[in-house]
Amino acid sequence: MAISATSTSLNKEQREQAWEDFGKEHYDMVIIGGGSVGAGTALDAATRGLKVAVLETRDFAGGTSSRSSKMFHGGLRYLAMLDFRLVAEGLRERELSMSGLAPHLVKPLKFIFPLEHRIWQRPFMASGFMLYDLMGGAKSVPMQKHYTRKGMLKLSPGLKEDALVGGVRYFDTLVDDARHTMTVLRTAAEFGATIRPSTQVVDFEKDRDRITGAKIVDTDSGRTTTIHGSVFVNATGIWNDEIEKLASVEGKFHVHTSKGVHIVVPKSVLPGDVALTFVTEKSVLFVIPWGEYWIIGTTDTDWTMNLANPAPTRADIDYILEHINAKVKRQITYDDIVGVYAGLRPLVAGSSDSTTNLSRNHAVARVAPGLVSVAGGKYTTYRVIGADTVDAAKEDIPFDVPDSVTTDVPLLGADGYHALANQIPQLAKRLGISEKTVEHLLNRYGSLIYEVLAPADKDKSLLEPIPGAPAYLMAEALYAATHEGAAHLEDILHRRMRLAMEYDHRGVECAEAVSKLVADTMGWDEKARKEEIKVFTDRVEAQKKAEKELTDESANKIEANVEDTRPDVDTSQDR
Ligand SMILES: Cc1cc2nc3c(=O)[nH]c(=O)nc-3n(C[C@H](O)[C@H](O)[C@H](O)COP(=O)(O)OP(=O)(O)OC[C@H]3O[C@@H](n4cnc5c(N)ncnc54)[C@H](O)[C@@H]3O)c2cc1C
Repeated sequence: MAISATSTSLNKEQREQAWEDFGKEHYDMVIIGGGSVGAGTALDAATRGLKVAVLETRDFAGGTSSRSSKMFHGGLRYLAMLDFRLVAEGLRERELSMSGLAPHLVKPLKFIFPLEHRIWQRPFMASGFMLYDLMGGAKSVPMQKHYTRKGMLKLSPGLKEDALVGGVRYFDTLVDDARHTMTVLRTAAEFGATIRPSTQVVDFEKDRDRITGAKIVDTDSGRTTTIHGSVFVNATGIWNDEIEKLASVEGKFHVHTSKGVHIVVPKSVLPGDVALTFVTEKSVLFVIPWGEYWIIGTTDTDWTMNLANPAPTRADIDYILEHINAKVKRQITYDDIVGVYAGLRPLVAGSSDSTTNLSRNHAVARVAPGLVSVAGGKYTTYRVIGADTVDAAKEDIPFDVPDSVTTDVPLLGADGYHALANQIPQLAKRLGISEKTVEHLLNRYGSLIYEVLAPADKDKSLLEPIPGAPAYLMAEALYAATHEGAAHLEDILHRRMRLAMEYDHRGVECAEAVSKLVADTMGWDEKARKEEIKVFTDRVEAQKKAEKELTDESANKIEANVEDTRPDVDTSQDR
């Protein structure tokens, strides 16, 4: 039965085997980039029967895919732009993930949209939300509901009375973006894909004008090899143009970047439980419940510096504080902030000929024989983007490729989840943990909960909370190393668990205990373990310092001067 099954493990041994395979096997498809787009493409391709490799230079979701607003959504702002097709597609994908593919990860989220103008705004918004509901927004969640000012203040008592005249309640969904991408990749591995982090593409091999191979570097050990495949997929998001330069091909679109910053504050600063949406002059400001916290953001400013570590600045934080404080009674201050993160949106621009699909916000193009580039879009439509990419790559695959089947492929942990969610009290009793902990685990691992807790049969200390992070169990940190492909301390503290944004020590107080727990699994001696802690701590300190700077330039300078867990191999000399 699914709930007692074990899953494919991504860990140190698997990374070694993958490296060996890369040097000698021939793949139908080699995907460069392990963000949401690369992950969606890998799952789509593997479940169509292709032999797939995924190369990720950092960690899974180490780029934009761990730094989003964490919603699967139709995108109300696309409705305002009259892009109905895009909204309908987002809503369809949201429904599919929430109800079938990943109900353990994608959760319904109650939002309110405060109305600020009398007379015209309510009927205007009502017709917009009616369209949203009709296009699929109210399939398995309630449809819009309208409230007076009094009703709104009951739902969200922290709002200023003069900030609204009433409001509309609607639903979207919440997801831990990094965990979702990692789970999609693990599901692809379950269907045979070979997946490896710490693997950077630094050059390409060609036969005349066809791309036939890629030179790769293990960013942990420095060793190199060459991987061969029928088609390579450039799924590197904001690094799209760099890969095309490496391949010496002229892209059919270009990717530029805009920075979006979020802050994280404790729940106590704003009474209430529902998410809020405000329209600002530059973007939309979301206030999203996240466990014991609120995530508030975002900003939207051009960014042309360090892609790997975009720096949030004091100006970004001031912008968010100024806008939220205009709406709430209890003013939020710097002292309330426990976490800050910045992400870069991959924005696609360029030609739109018949081989380039720019119509749905993401772009897919065969840029050379054997090389397909894909970028843009949003997290919500990762599955559709994956299917479009595999379709575009068919031309380079020397056999018939069947149609996409991912609408029917639940992610790891989804199978059996609903039944387990109905048995929380019994599970708590059986597993010897609190009901709250069972719920926490089910929402992160779904039906893999038994696999996560299995080592605790022999070592009860794994059921203890992580020192400095009481919401998480030591067993989860171990599982990140044994099954979830974490290769560095940063991967565990930042993305397998979200400690670096949820605690004001930013994960530093957990580093000692977690690194000791996983040292054997990771193969770290004492020197390597201490180095892991140092690199992680230095990055946290640098980001905290950068957050006090007013300009992007000065903040970037601070972040750029700190060593990365996996420093990029500089390929600029080769061009
Ligand atoms: C602030 C913000 C908020 C957002 N909110 C939402 C939201 O709420 N909902 C939503 O649907 N979407 C949202 N998005 C959009 C969404 O996050 C992105 O569209 C999506 O994550 C992009 O994924 P990607 O795979 O293209 O890029 P990435 O996640 O950046 O993946 C690309 C990967 O390629 C790797 N790579 C680069 N070069 C190489 C190389 N040479 N060799 C090997 N690997 C390489 C990188 O390390 C990286 O991991 C948001 C984006 C931002 C910035």
